[in-house]
Amino acid sequence: MARSIEHLSEVYTRKRKRSEPVISFEFFPPKTSAGDDALLERTIPGLSKFNPDYCSVTYGAGGSTSEKSLKIVDCIQKNYQLTALAHLTCVNATRAEIEVVLEQARSIGVKNILALRGDPPGGVGDFQKTEGGFEFSYQLVEFLREMGGFSIGAAGFPEGHIACQEGKEVDWDRLKHKIDAGTDFVITQLFFDNTDYYEFRDYMTKKLAVEVPLVPGVLPVLNGKQIKRFTDMCGARIPELMLKKLEELEDDTEASKQYGINYATQQCEALLKNGVEGIHFYTLNKLFSVEAVLKNLNLEGHTGDRFLSSI
Ligand SMILES: Cc1cc2nc3c(=O)[nH]c(=O)nc-3n(C[C@H](O)[C@H](O)[C@H](O)COP(=O)(O)OP(=O)(O)OC[C@H]3O[C@@H](n4cnc5c(N)ncnc54)[C@H](O)[C@@H]3O)c2cc1C
Repeated sequence: MARSIEHLSEVYTRKRKRSEPVISFEFFPPKTSAGDDALLERTIPGLSKFNPDYCSVTYGAGGSTSEKSLKIVDCIQKNYQLTALAHLTCVNATRAEIEVVLEQARSIGVKNILALRGDPPGGVGDFQKTEGGFEFSYQLVEFLREMGGFSIGAAGFPEGHIACQEGKEVDWDRLKHKIDAGTDFVITQLFFDNTDYYEFRDYMTKKLAVEVPLVPGVLPVLNGKQIKRFTDMCGARIPELMLKKLEELEDDTEASKQYGINYATQQCEALLKNGVEGIHFYTLNKLFSVEAVLKNLNLEGHTGDRFLSSI
């Protein structure tokens, strides 16, 4: 019984009408064959049992993982009959090169693209637009609209984008521009204090009258060192208590992981109570923590409408 691959705009609309959360998982293309095996043979099969509404696959700096990203997307859709969301960035690419990637994606049945600008190569310095390419992600959104046929997602930053010197509200105003250009849904950067998300959501919905889903991105932390590295790169704040606890647990891998599971569980419980339209899990290609959080949330029987199309 094959499940049809859907446009995510339809998925979010259907689930909004039923007041049910859209559950999604993010993976990245591994760099080693051991990583490939772990992702394709353990993590994706393990998490697919939770019937996610979709899975997303990141796109490496400058298109370095383009081929591999699409291969994983294809595997998710063909082997697991799950809808996939392919990330795409503007780094080191002309408009024509981006079009080629999009046509490849279309040819393998991809219906959903997360339109991103991407970071400067190596994560250092200011972003440099490629000649004949795009400077900001809203231009990629516009291009995707021109091409047609894709549901379009974009990134949102509850604490403001790290490079936006003018402050978070300016960054949120720019997100509104990106939405007006044709974005169907927004997935947020990870955050650890839900009040940051609520402030962002209030600004977007009440001040800017945004109606598209603003989906929180949640990361179950694995250990202190790793999360400090991530937050240094993306600018998210680690609450003091969390930082203190992770520092205390620094030498205890299992206890750190368990702390991350408990924290993410409580974070998700509160978000779901506060009416979020879905949760996007940053899985880090690991099964254990996300599986534990979903079980804690009683989302084991989550119905991602798996067989609806075949009934
Ligand atoms: C859910 C999610 C998934 C991600 N996946 C990937 C991935 O797969 N691969 C990857 O490389 N990176 C990924 N990223 C990281 C992302 O590429 C970086 O955060 C990047 O620095 C910004 O991308 P953006 O699409 O938000 O850029 P933009 O929307 O273009 O914004 C970038 C900066 O430009 C500013 N800006 C926007 N519009 C204007 C304007 N008109 N004038 C002046 N300034 C403007 C913004 O305020 C911001 O500071 C992801 C991020 C998130 C939240």
